[in-house]
Amino acid sequence: MAEKNSVRKLAAELKQFLSAQNEDDFIVAAAQQRAAVAISREENRVCPVQNETKAETPVSTAQDTLTVQFMRTMRPTQTIRTDAENEMNKTQKTQALQALAQTIHTCRRCPLGSTRLNAVPGEGNVNADVMFVGEGPGYDEDRQGRPFVGRAGQLLDKMILAMGLSREKVFIANIAKCHPMIDPAHPENRSNDRAPNSEEIACCRKYVEQQIALVCPKYVIALGGVAAKALISDAKSLGALRGQFYNLHLDSVTLPKPVQIIATYHPAALLRNPNWKKDAWADLQQVMDALGLKGARK
Ligand code: URA
Repeated sequence: MAEKNSVRKLAAELKQFLSAQNEDDFIVAAAQQRAAVAISREENRVCPVQNETKAETPVSTAQDTLTVQFMRTMRPTQTIRTDAENEMNKTQKTQALQALAQTIHTCRRCPLGSTRLNAVPGEGNVNADVMFVGEGPGYDEDRQGRPFVGRAGQLLDKMILAMGLSREKVFIANIAKCHPMIDPAHPENRSNDRAPNSEEIACCRKYVEQQIALVCPKYVIALGGVAAKALISDAKSLGALRGQFYNLHLDSVTLPKPVQIIATYHPAALLRNPNWKKDAWADLQQVMDALGLKGARK
């Protein structure tokens, strides 16, 4: 079958060659054709960081692809792109993350989209080395549209500062982007928060996966069991997962570079069980050691 196809292709090229005015016309036409094929391949290619966001962002335009692919066809010696060239720059990442946030703001993939006050896509440094991922927005986050701004968020801020980082240096996101409520009929109630269920997580997970792939931090810190199970292993408890690094593998995107993930206790759990703080600090110190961070000065 493959042989038959290549004979067909050869025959088509020969026919085209014979009908071309001259050799140069043929070369140009053939190169353009190959560029067009390359574009359509590029559009279907498993390069999810750019592909997944392509519809929503002007980051990678067909024109860019055409230029790159055409150059490859015409000048094979210039085809090898270095890692640095393949990486998105800060502006491209910012644009792609903004476009993704825009999509999240209008998302209605699950019922939480109709009961939220504000979607909470996440925020932070697009070039962060460390990305924190929580479970989902609570009462305060729903009102402000920002992650970790309530009591748990205040503790997270302290944890970040203790590591020698700041909110501006890290990226903070959640698995679920909209507020899961026990009683959605009464959004005015505090203490109405609940963890996202598996359907809500399934609907939302591609958003956080795209964010991780775009920011491409060195380390993801999963805060609590929901994030740890969603990103590392559904089959194990937080107690079994925490305290060690794993290579992160995502379902919907391929990471441009390897990312390590470690799980620790959610700050809300630490507020309820302060005796867990010692273990959480040990987890954070592993990331600090790996990054050579000295931590906040006392
Ligand atoms: N808890 C979370 O998991 N995320 C937030 O943004 C706030 C509280």
